[in-house]
Amino acid sequence: STVITSLALGAALTANAQQSQADIDKKVDALIAKMTLEEKVGQMAQVTLDVIGKGKNRYSADQPFELDPAKMKDVFDKYHIGSILNTSANRALTPQRWYEIISTIQKTSLKTDKNKIPVIYGVDEIHGATYTDGATMFPQQIAQGAARNPKLTELGASITAYETRASNIPWNFSPVLDLGLTPTFSRMWESFGEDPYLCSVLGAAMIDGYEGKDNNIADPYKLASCMKHFLGYHATISGKDRTPGYISEDALREYHLPSFKAAIDAGAHTIMINSGIINGVPVHASYNILTKLLKEELGFNGLVVTDWADIENLHRRDRVAATDKEAIMLAINAGIDMSMIPYQYEVFCDNLIELVKEGKVKQDRIDDAVRRILKVKYALNLFDKPNTHYKDYPKFGSKEHEKAAYDMAAEAITLLKNEGSVLPLKKDIKVLVTGPNANTMRGLNGAWTYSWQGDRVELHAGKYNTILEAVQNKIGKGNVTYVPGVSYKEDGHYYDELANQMDEAIAAAKNADVILLCLGENSYTEKPGDMNDLYMSDLQTELAQKIAATGKTVILVLNEGRPRVISKFEPQMKGIVQTYLPGNFGGDALADILFGDVNPSGKLPYTYPRYPNSTIGYIHKPSEEQKKAEGVYNYEADYNPQFPFGHGLSYTTFEYKDLKLGKPAIKKGENITVTVTVTNTGKVAGKEVVHLFTSDLYASSVTPDVKRLRRFEKIELKPGESKTVSFELTPKDLSYVGRDGKTLLEAGDFEVAIDKLKATFTLSE
Ligand code: BGC
Repeated sequence: STVITSLALGAALTANAQQSQADIDKKVDALIAKMTLEEKVGQMAQVTLDVIGKGKNRYSADQPFELDPAKMKDVFDKYHIGSILNTSANRALTPQRWYEIISTIQKTSLKTDKNKIPVIYGVDEIHGATYTDGATMFPQQIAQGAARNPKLTELGASITAYETRASNIPWNFSPVLDLGLTPTFSRMWESFGEDPYLCSVLGAAMIDGYEGKDNNIADPYKLASCMKHFLGYHATISGKDRTPGYISEDALREYHLPSFKAAIDAGAHTIMINSGIINGVPVHASYNILTKLLKEELGFNGLVVTDWADIENLHRRDRVAATDKEAIMLAINAGIDMSMIPYQYEVFCDNLIELVKEGKVKQDRIDDAVRRILKVKYALNLFDKPNTHYKDYPKFGSKEHEKAAYDMAAEAITLLKNEGSVLPLKKDIKVLVTGPNANTMRGLNGAWTYSWQGDRVELHAGKYNTILEAVQNKIGKGNVTYVPGVSYKEDGHYYDELANQMDEAIAAAKNADVILLCLGENSYTEKPGDMNDLYMSDLQTELAQKIAATGKTVILVLNEGRPRVISKFEPQMKGIVQTYLPGNFGGDALADILFGDVNPSGKLPYTYPRYPNSTIGYIHKPSEEQKKAEGVYNYEADYNPQFPFGHGLSYTTFEYKDLKLGKPAIKKGENITVTVTVTNTGKVAGKEVVHLFTSDLYASSVTPDVKRLRRFEKIELKPGESKTVSFELTPKDLSYVGRDGKTLLEAGDFEVAIDKLKATFTLSE
């Protein structure tokens, strides 16, 4: 709400921006009637910025980017390309530089195009304006899943929209709505966690922040969001990026679809497709998923864009098309509206034109695709105002924006273990800070921070505090010794490490009261970040074991994009704090938590595995009762995570009582209310996430989930204070998807669980 008021200052900018859908439809139809086939096909093409840059800019970060007029002539004059993405040479630019580049692109394309259609520029601004120097970097989505605070997620997204528009970029390839189920998968941290409901609530909140609750993206403080990656992207058999997955119809609908459905209901304007293969069919070639499910059944009438080069992949990688031309035919006929090409635009455009002339792609399909694209361009008001100017965005990178990023980090960081209440620490102690994540902004931010892999963070992040610097600020430099022990190699692969004064670290531990052991991962995403072994690296394990052997109090600070297995040294750690990827203010938030100025309230958004080969999520976990049932060997009976989904401690204690149901029994179609009273029984104020799970005890079609998260609410309580929280469950919460893919609501008994309290009710015909 602070941002809402501050943004009201710019209300003048939004005047007459709101256009009705009927107006837009009329304009789009009139425009389509005037366009040639070549012009239409150009709208369906998206190329990367390097394509119109001088020289070979790609990956040559030292050469400043410059637009090449000859290349622009080919792209806009000859091919009528309608969209550009990303930044050149993987480089963050100032808002001013972004303005210069994109406004020149708009000017050139508007000058050459007789229809005066502006370009739509898209970038991955996934936790803040990723590619803009000086932008506010928020905790990554996985940390937001831990914060469990939809209002903060919405606020963060509204700030990201503001700072992205300050960079003259109107389209953001975010949020990720995939389930973060697979820790080896390089992008688990780009999700909100493993649970479909959690992903639905936070995904919709993020879209509200990007687009506004009314989805009026003509507002120059809002932008077009892009749900991704439809559908089932993370659920691969190998646990690796862009590899095949086998997902039954009921599982696709029960687990993977709800977050996208919620986002479509929240009005998201665009969607990006899963680069992988489901049940043998590349999703980019799946008429069933793109047209039947997404466009017809879910009624999505926005823009469907491919992921990177995924039409050519149908031919070159997936081999379902013998030529590029056949790949284009398959994808466009399956329901793709825009191809993220990103280089060989002539191949896409020339072939698609031929395909239409040969009758292999229908003119109607082209018109439908172009209509969807133009609608988004009109909705963004790009025709009247193709650019937004950084000078109209005085709050870019402001203290107010930074505070929102700090608040999110403070609510996300999760206290996993606190033996003997070793935390919070006193401020008059001698601390050794060690480990490869102690002094790195790259580690705190993760990938998609000033560059794709996050490997250029240190060039931009000078003014923010690493964990070490934040601890020094908190208790004074004189009380802090820093010895890395292990470091990430600067020019190696993201997981290359070297021992760096390990013996010195162990010697220093002997003189410290407490050791902050900062372990985890370097930044990574996509293919380069796939993982073969979930155990914490050998060198970090060695450091942990040797430090623990000194007998000193060790607090393990985890800074990682996925749960690396720590069972080889976890028992020796007195305290464990998970920071996830908390962004530029994560070091400050962590120091506030470690030394008791902030009470932690984060909750695990995933199941933290104890063993690398035992990574199943909570949904399929047998209940304690099932485990105890005599003579019954349950599947996954030895499921035994390091920390369960939803785990997270506080410096105070909360007591749950009086779990009550509105009625002992309901009829099909009725709602049921559930209330519970929570009391802060400790000595300090604290925030608590109240989770409500349901279990359908027996089901006729498929084995019911042991439990499912249906509601959560984050509350704040002073010492001694109580609050009664009330939830309303609807028939949807009691339904499940059966074998044939149909949703079933069946009579029978249901259990409701909040914390350790349980109650049962009956649903009858
Ligand atoms: C990623 C997408 C991203 C796109 C554009 C792809 O490689 O999978 O998530 O939006 O690149 O940068």
